[in-house]
Amino acid sequence: AGGSLNIYARLKELIEESGLDVSVSLEDEPHEAVGIKKSGCHGFCEMGPLLRIEPAGVLYIKVKVEDCEEIVEQSIIKDGVVERLLYKDSEGNSYNKQEDIPFYKQQTRVALEHCGHINAESINEYIAMGGYQAVAKALFDMTSESIVDEISDSYLRGRGGGGFPTGKKWAQVLRQTEETKYVVCNGDEGDPGAFMDRSMMEGDPHRMIEGMIIAGIATKAHYGYIYVRAEYPLAVHRLETAIEQARSLGLLGCNILGSGFSFALKISQGAGAFVCGEGSALTASIEGNRGMPRVKPPRTVEKGLFEKPTVLNNVETFCNVPSIILKGADWYKTYGLEKNYGTKAFALTGNVMNTGLIEVPMGTTLRKVIYDIGGGVKGGEFKAVQIGGPSGGCLVLNAENDHLDMPLDFDSLKKVGAMIGSGGLVVMNDKSCMVEVARFFMNFTQNESCGKCVPCREGTKRMLELLTDIVEGRGTLEHLDLLEELAETISATALCGLGKTAASPVVSTIKYFRDEYIAHVVDKK
Ligand code: SF4
Repeated sequence: AGGSLNIYARLKELIEESGLDVSVSLEDEPHEAVGIKKSGCHGFCEMGPLLRIEPAGVLYIKVKVEDCEEIVEQSIIKDGVVERLLYKDSEGNSYNKQEDIPFYKQQTRVALEHCGHINAESINEYIAMGGYQAVAKALFDMTSESIVDEISDSYLRGRGGGGFPTGKKWAQVLRQTEETKYVVCNGDEGDPGAFMDRSMMEGDPHRMIEGMIIAGIATKAHYGYIYVRAEYPLAVHRLETAIEQARSLGLLGCNILGSGFSFALKISQGAGAFVCGEGSALTASIEGNRGMPRVKPPRTVEKGLFEKPTVLNNVETFCNVPSIILKGADWYKTYGLEKNYGTKAFALTGNVMNTGLIEVPMGTTLRKVIYDIGGGVKGGEFKAVQIGGPSGGCLVLNAENDHLDMPLDFDSLKKVGAMIGSGGLVVMNDKSCMVEVARFFMNFTQNESCGKCVPCREGTKRMLELLTDIVEGRGTLEHLDLLEELAETISATALCGLGKTAASPVVSTIKYFRDEYIAHVVDKK
């Protein structure tokens, strides 16, 4: 969308004209040549299109086709730098190297380690960076039990929102005696403002696949499915390419690396329904049925896909697995806080200077994320952050609450009625109307309700009507009471997580911005 492909084509043309060989890639021996590669997302979306010069590590921002000639001349032929394309902070300091830019320097990248650095369509580049070594270690140096123990020791928690301990889930599947078991990856990211999983699948698909193979070895499952929405065509293409490449090198299929272990992997494309992120709806959709949640138990670990025991984790969770297996649980636990170890990727959007994709240790404060990495609030003062998408809540700074200095982790957020969700962070300045924000999310949830149960199907509709009345000047104080009553009933009685958390944005905005709701209603007294 930013025009990167035109820049790629122009650079290729210029380098060819200059007589340099453009056919190299990372796996080649260094020689008098220059390679150009399309990488996945670097995360610094606000500054795109981005161009990185290797091995110098120089990052150019907001590159245009017209800049290519100067880049080839200065950076490639003369080994210099094009000053005007470097990132400059608000004080005018310019940064040559990507890693020195505050946006990157303050981050810790584990799941996103290779995103933006390797050609996502080259398995050789992934292997050159140490890829698939964790699979080899899991196959030849570990048992299923010791893999599960390592993941349990690391206390890796599901990055899709629930925060359930991954090791515990894998142990439950390993215990099942059924011959057929499945490993399923949830790549059905559907929250407005979230694009973490998409970037990982597009930028480093082999890492996720490696995590899934390890889950298969750990739970003695021989079949895997990646459930990815069809609205992510580049992710689907890169995953297909990656699966084919892994198969051709004997990393997927029968008798992986001669170990006797077999693992087959398929992609299943979803039609983009938010509810299909829910485990039982997701497995129903893969089976070819309408994606609707069912009553639990039985749980997915006992009767999941095709009624068989199933490990279901999201993209980011699987992307953490290879590093934990290679470097160990103790290494992983050096990041984050107790029982909230490791890192978390967030999609930083809204009224913030540096929108983009970031990864920080669990427990990093919102202040650090917004001001040090995000470069501060855009267009006004900080008002609130919506965290966790339509199921989450807002974090604020006012006389009674200082959420800016609160650690961002599963447990701390739960205490204030919010949730990490899959990691969407929408920053709002003081010009944002919080009732509008609540209506936006309710409109989304109401549209996405599958309609199976009455509280969610009817309740979200009524809540949306009440919010619309308030926003359009027809609201009364009774509307507010009704909203609160409905919120309580829906969350107590809805069948699945979508309905249970549908009212969260309304509840948290009423809690922190009641005055704003009152200002909208007609009978203020
Ligand atoms: Fe469907 Fe909503 Fe009921 Fe979930 S809570 S089953 S999305 S109607």
